[in-house]
Amino acid sequence: MSRTVDVVVIGGGFAGITAARDLKHRGFNVLLLEARDRLGGRTWYKEVNGFHVELGGTWIHWTQPFVWAEKERYGLEVQETPGCVAERVAIKVDGQVNDLQEDQLAEFLQGFELFFAEAKQVWERPYDQDHCWDAICAHDSQSVADRFAALDLTPLQRTSIGGFLEILSMNQPENASYVEMMRCWSLTGWNYEIFNDTAARYKFTNGTGELVDAIAEDGGFDVELNTSVASVQQSEAGVVVTTTNGDVVNAKRAVVTLPLNLLNSVSFDPPLSAAKQEASTLKHVGGGYKVFFEVQGDPGAVMTLSRSTDSPLIGSFTYKRGEQHSVLAGFSLEPGALDKSVDEWQAVLEEFLPGVKLLSTFGHDWGGDALSQGSWCTYRPGTIARFANALPQQEGNLVFASGDHAQAWRGFIEGAIASGSSAALGIAKSIQG
Ligand SMILES: Cc1cc2nc3c(=O)[nH]c(=O)nc-3n(C[C@H](O)[C@H](O)[C@H](O)COP(=O)(O)OP(=O)(O)OC[C@H]3O[C@@H](n4cnc5c(N)ncnc54)[C@H](O)[C@@H]3O)c2cc1C
Repeated sequence: MSRTVDVVVIGGGFAGITAARDLKHRGFNVLLLEARDRLGGRTWYKEVNGFHVELGGTWIHWTQPFVWAEKERYGLEVQETPGCVAERVAIKVDGQVNDLQEDQLAEFLQGFELFFAEAKQVWERPYDQDHCWDAICAHDSQSVADRFAALDLTPLQRTSIGGFLEILSMNQPENASYVEMMRCWSLTGWNYEIFNDTAARYKFTNGTGELVDAIAEDGGFDVELNTSVASVQQSEAGVVVTTTNGDVVNAKRAVVTLPLNLLNSVSFDPPLSAAKQEASTLKHVGGGYKVFFEVQGDPGAVMTLSRSTDSPLIGSFTYKRGEQHSVLAGFSLEPGALDKSVDEWQAVLEEFLPGVKLLSTFGHDWGGDALSQGSWCTYRPGTIARFANALPQQEGNLVFASGDHAQAWRGFIEGAIASGSSAALGIAKSIQG
């Protein structure tokens, strides 16, 4: 089968559906091809074990202007996540779990200020990396571990920042870029409270799926699910996209929204730039697991924190409260975390929450998922200078959009929507003038 459209969009996560909607609204004939049997990509609101949970991307905040505008535009409700503003924080420091005490708060907060003391100079304008590009490059090779090594932090500070940043980067401190962590801190106004709230306080009451549906319905673009793109060829007239079934789509432009870790899984002719290929071979290091814990009764609004060297559970917090059953959302860097038995996780959880009764665990293996090969995007140390500009760079008739190489909120739903929107605008300008 062969079809001709104005623009073909490859991938139906938030970057793809936003680009498709915006292009359709600008009068283009748009076809979106998605390999999965659903839209939404690395967001997936689903009923598991009788609970509606977000297996992937979840939390949004008004410091994220594109996604918050979508929430407002479609009138979608958000709800709070109880454990983000916890009544009790159980933290494992030097092998010992204790509740964070009122008189430790100043020490806790001062740790973040010290760790991120350079952030304001490096990301004075977090939406404009060129503004302090030299400072970004000067720190590019440093890992989170390097930054720890340079500071004289207390054990409490090391654990709280360490656990938090292991969750934010979904990898160990030696593998995560310090500059990237400073970017997130700067985007939230160099302020711990907003940093914490942005990470995990507000989620869509009816799930990210409600926003996916709203964008798709409003966009009215054509979609083919279960359709995997095998190759993309550029021609003078535009692009020729071939699916694994052998179907062909001709278009003036293509929006490529493949996750960074999958860019090399599609054959491009001419080949993608050396930088894009290298970045995709190297892969981003966002891995780990989001693990949900169904527990008996109501544990209250609790949070746990640890470093991965001290526990398989680097953090968790109450996600949904109920009288009979509640759910905690947890994070782990341990390989096979989703395969651990209830008994094994019970022993881990109980260390932080004595008396807790674990009923079941569940989650999705995004690293093992062939269509994501990772969770959210975290750059390795030493890669921003090489890849941050090269990844979103247009190549001929191919425009690139992805949460994985967005400016500002890279690695977030916000970045995906922002980059999809800007890809659509760029294409409209280049075709319509
Ligand atoms: C566990 C987890 C928790 C997260 N938590 C948060 C959070 O709380 N807040 C937040 O803002 N962000 C969070 N994120 C990150 C956020 O979900 C992503 O940054 C964002 O959804 C990425 O959108 P995208 O469109 O760029 O990529 P994707 O959503 O990955 O979309 C790319 C699409 O391309 C498709 N595709 C791949 N190969 C092909 C092919 N050959 N042909 C056709 N289609 C193909 C894929 O199936 C996919 O649907 C989380 C992510 C994960 C995994």
